[in-house]
Amino acid sequence: MNDSSIHDRLENIVKRIQSAAIASGRDARSVKLVTVSKTRSADEVRAAASAGALIFGENYVKEASEKIALLQDLNRPFHLIGHLQSNKAKTAVRLFDLIHSVDSENLARELDKQAQKIGKIQGILIQVNVGMEESKSGIDEAGLEALVRAIHTLENIRVLGLMTIPPFDLDPEAARPYFRKLRLAADRIRYLDLPNIRMDELSMGMTGDFETAIEEGATLVRIGTAIFGERS
Ligand SMILES: *Cc1c(COP(=O)(O)O)cnc(C)c1O
Repeated sequence: MNDSSIHDRLENIVKRIQSAAIASGRDARSVKLVTVSKTRSADEVRAAASAGALIFGENYVKEASEKIALLQDLNRPFHLIGHLQSNKAKTAVRLFDLIHSVDSENLARELDKQAQKIGKIQGILIQVNVGMEESKSGIDEAGLEALVRAIHTLENIRVLGLMTIPPFDLDPEAARPYFRKLRLAADRIRYLDLPNIRMDELSMGMTGDFETAIEEGATLVRIGTAIFGERS
């Protein structure tokens, strides 16, 4: 994908995000785009950044680490949106402003420990497997409250909201009930009013369904293909 098509595609996506927000009676600025750059080169990330992309999302710690090293001068935040193993927590807290994929007490404790070592408060989201798919990571809805209660006293992580990946379907309407479930789950957790637990962010919606996600309350949409083209 050349720079000018990345530019045009990004501009188009930003317009679609804003229209979807406004059509749902929301402030256009209440939805942030996470430009998903997994498998993309540092040069493609640069092209997207110069076209106005503010936040990048990566799936793999090693790939992100190599890419971010080449992009220090950009000064853009990177989010981790892929599954994280505890043994990579140390690297992850050094690289990512927000980790979308926390789904266990163990991982949260390890992130807290590593963040404490470098004097950071690590923003995290809890990934919820609202579709109860065996193939997907994420905690089941039934375990969400217990997880949040177990980690709310950890001082070096801050839970900022929830993330989900609904079961794959070509029809964006099929995702709507799952997006709604995530929003309602966030409402329930917010009602517990636990210290260190905020429910400001809902990370949901990708290329095929981000407008539906925005209608259901998404504050972070994670979009790759619509900006960079199909991944090979
Ligand atoms: C790859 C990926 C995306 C982006 O998907 P597209 O369909 O390319 O927009 C979003 N979220 C997660 C967790 C991903 O792994």
